Amino acid sequence: MVIGGLQKFSLLDYPGHISAIVFTQGCNFRCHFCYNPMLVCPVSRVGGKLKYSRAEKDEKRKDHFSLYKEDDLFDFLASRTGKLEGVVITGGEPTIHPDLLKFITKIKKLGYKVKLDTNGTNPAMLKKLLAPLTRRSKGGNKADKKNNPPIPFLSGGRLVDYIAMDIKAPLEKYGEVAGLPLSKLSWRAVERSEAISVKSHSPEIASSSRGGTPRNDSFVNLEKIKKSIKIIMGANIPYEFRTTVVPGLIKPEDINKMGEMINGAEIWYLQQFKSNIKLVDESFMGQKSYNIKEMKKMAKIAGQYVKKCEIR
Ligand code: SF4
Repeated sequence: MVIGGLQKFSLLDYPGHISAIVFTQGCNFRCHFCYNPMLVCPVSRVGGKLKYSRAEKDEKRKDHFSLYKEDDLFDFLASRTGKLEGVVITGGEPTIHPDLLKFITKIKKLGYKVKLDTNGTNPAMLKKLLAPLTRRSKGGNKADKKNNPPIPFLSGGRLVDYIAMDIKAPLEKYGEVAGLPLSKLSWRAVERSEAISVKSHSPEIASSSRGGTPRNDSFVNLEKIKKSIKIIMGANIPYEFRTTVVPGLIKPEDINKMGEMINGAEIWYLQQFKSNIKLVDESFMGQKSYNIKEMKKMAKIAGQYVKKCEIR
């Protein structure tokens, strides 16, 4: 696992549990408001253009490098059993790492509960992580078996006990908010969505949206986002959706469209935008947030779609 950081103690990040937080390095999104630029990539935006660091240009290192040794992390976790209850795995985006299942398996073997934060771009991995575990897992190729060993002692349980997924924006704005263009296929998905009018939107608008040139090889695949929502809502484990509400990116009327995407969900947190820290898109630093009155108004709209909506 490529680990970018460790917070050894938290009372806030895993609802109801004392936890440690593991930050994985690297992300396939470039959300303008992201306050973890050093985890997302060793890259900064300069004058509206993405500027890659030397490390990111080095293909062999594949954009990411570990700042924390996995052995050290597991020594720490082993020393805290009985004191900590859970481990939160966040990023960056943890599901871009193919060894995530193996990594979580090791954590579960120490007896911890696991909370996973995700942007929902890897439904195939979420499906594996949220599936009830069986005593024996058959099939899969050699590499699969090596990365995803069976965990007989967890039979009936799951690798992930709580999952939090970001809902970045209404479908047609996803690319703009995530800092990447939408693929052509995704635009078809937007067009198919009855609730959304695409007349005023085009792929060109999304790809040239503020923040400059996104990475050429990266697109937002909306089908995957929708699939992840479905998997999470059907997984029968505690979950949450959350949206950072950034003025200029998300308008109050967008809340309805996002609400339709997660209609019937258990809980949706609307997060106030923080701009007094270093952000992935430096042009957003110092920008105004919605005030509490505006947040409450949006939470009221959001509450019509989900069982509970809270501001944080
Ligand atoms: S906020 Fe966006 S860019 Fe930052 S870690 Fe999450 S998905 Fe990646």
